[in-house]
Amino acid sequence: MKTEINYKELESCNVLVVGGGVAGVAAAVSASRAGAKTILVEKNTFLGGMATGGLVTPMMKNALDAKNILTKGIFIEICDRIVKADGGATFEDGNPGWFNPEIYKIILDEICTESGVKLLFDTQITYVKKENNILNEIIIFNKEGFSSIKAKEFIDATGDGDLMRLSGVSFESNEHQAMSLRFMMSGVDINDFAKWLEENDHSDDSPVYRLNNGDILLTSAFTYEKDWTLRPFFEDAIKNGDLTKEDANYFQIFSVPGAYDLIAFNCPRIHSVIASEHSERSNPERNTLDPLKAEDISYVLIQGRQMIKRISKFCKKYLPGFRKSYICQIAPLVGIRESRRLIGQYVLTKEDVVSGGKFEDAIADSNWPIDIHSLKLKAQTSNLKAPKVGDYYQIPLRSLLPKENEVKNLIVVGRCLSATFEAQGSARIQANCIAMGEAAGNFAAKRIKQGIELRT
Ligand SMILES: Cc1cc2nc3c(=O)[nH]c(=O)nc-3n(C[C@H](O)[C@H](O)[C@H](O)COP(=O)(O)OP(=O)(O)OC[C@H]3O[C@@H](n4cnc5c(N)ncnc54)[C@H](O)[C@@H]3O)c2cc1C
Repeated sequence: MKTEINYKELESCNVLVVGGGVAGVAAAVSASRAGAKTILVEKNTFLGGMATGGLVTPMMKNALDAKNILTKGIFIEICDRIVKADGGATFEDGNPGWFNPEIYKIILDEICTESGVKLLFDTQITYVKKENNILNEIIIFNKEGFSSIKAKEFIDATGDGDLMRLSGVSFESNEHQAMSLRFMMSGVDINDFAKWLEENDHSDDSPVYRLNNGDILLTSAFTYEKDWTLRPFFEDAIKNGDLTKEDANYFQIFSVPGAYDLIAFNCPRIHSVIASEHSERSNPERNTLDPLKAEDISYVLIQGRQMIKRISKFCKKYLPGFRKSYICQIAPLVGIRESRRLIGQYVLTKEDVVSGGKFEDAIADSNWPIDIHSLKLKAQTSNLKAPKVGDYYQIPLRSLLPKENEVKNLIVVGRCLSATFEAQGSARIQANCIAMGEAAGNFAAKRIKQGIELRT
């Protein structure tokens, strides 16, 4: 039996952005500011994607040194706005990307609405209408049922490349990083913990930075591979049965600007090794977790919340300053570092990253290392290769464009850019995603303005 889906025509615009993560917001804002009527469709009820819903705070540093930040434009504008809203700060190393995810959501709403972007929350894309190699419209689904939006230019900022998949362009999805489920704890005596860190942590990078207003920015971590200050606590907890080895495999915490008793956790990381031991999985032989499978995402959420239960108890029992702390938020979104990657006009490579590759059509500069969170339990962030000190690599515009003979009016931004698995491990940081979005929005608006003939 063939079922026809009935849908109504909703409206049309110049630029349609699907996905309101940081890349999508930057794309929509720059397109709209360049004069294009822009609509942004987002499946969640807030903007920011991984940054806010995945609780990925802070942004990692993308700078040559404390004074030479490699990403400018909307990235700096966002950081400044978050600071003005009492939810942001610059760390001692010059990184302006420390933020409170809830304030970030509000700022992203503001920057979009002030720039004239029309936001459609709680709306999924379902399929696309394409003629030859031109996209004409997308069919969306929300509480009103199915409807369509027509556009001249389309930007895929879904992180998972949903629009590029539906459009039939080439992509890869063969290797994945480990997923995480991040969370936050309130009621932490940050001052106590900071004092303890200052007395005990003698690593090169300062773990504690006291701002002029008295706020404290701090960070600490534990992995088996490195001799972290927290090691004795983890060893005791495993011995006492309070933590499993998996729980302790990767632990990283940050304080949150403007939130005097809040700690954000970049963990737990959920590994396929544990997954393969999970008897209820329909295919226990499949020794990997796939961020594009609902079954695997469900497993990560359930397993991750159990791990958070144990890790939070561990913090209360073992860590200085955490005695009265409690879980105040578990990320609504699973932390997906990588899923689909476009195979576009240029595929950014590991060699480009490490050798500081430069391009005539560069749209972003970065020196963030190749940061791969391995699926294997013992392997920590396996490969931190970076351009040499003082150098940086570039992302070319062609890494956002599908092949010439595929779709002509689609641009792909953010973590699903055209890059090898290794290169994506560097390019995926928020500063780069924002830079890609900003460039794509401008490029889409320019193509429309120039009236470039898109139809074949
Ligand atoms: C655990 C973890 C730790 C990280 N650590 C850091 C870090 O310390 N610093 C750093 O800078 N970066 C870090 N990153 C990387 C960085 O956060 C992400 O790569 C970046 O935020 C991705 O932005 P994006 O806009 O490309 O995609 P996303 O943030 O994934 O946004 C995609 C958006 O599209 C929406 N969407 C998806 N599908 C559809 C659909 N079909 N219809 C409508 N909307 C849709 C989603 O809801 C979401 O809002 C980390 C990532 C993870 C997961």
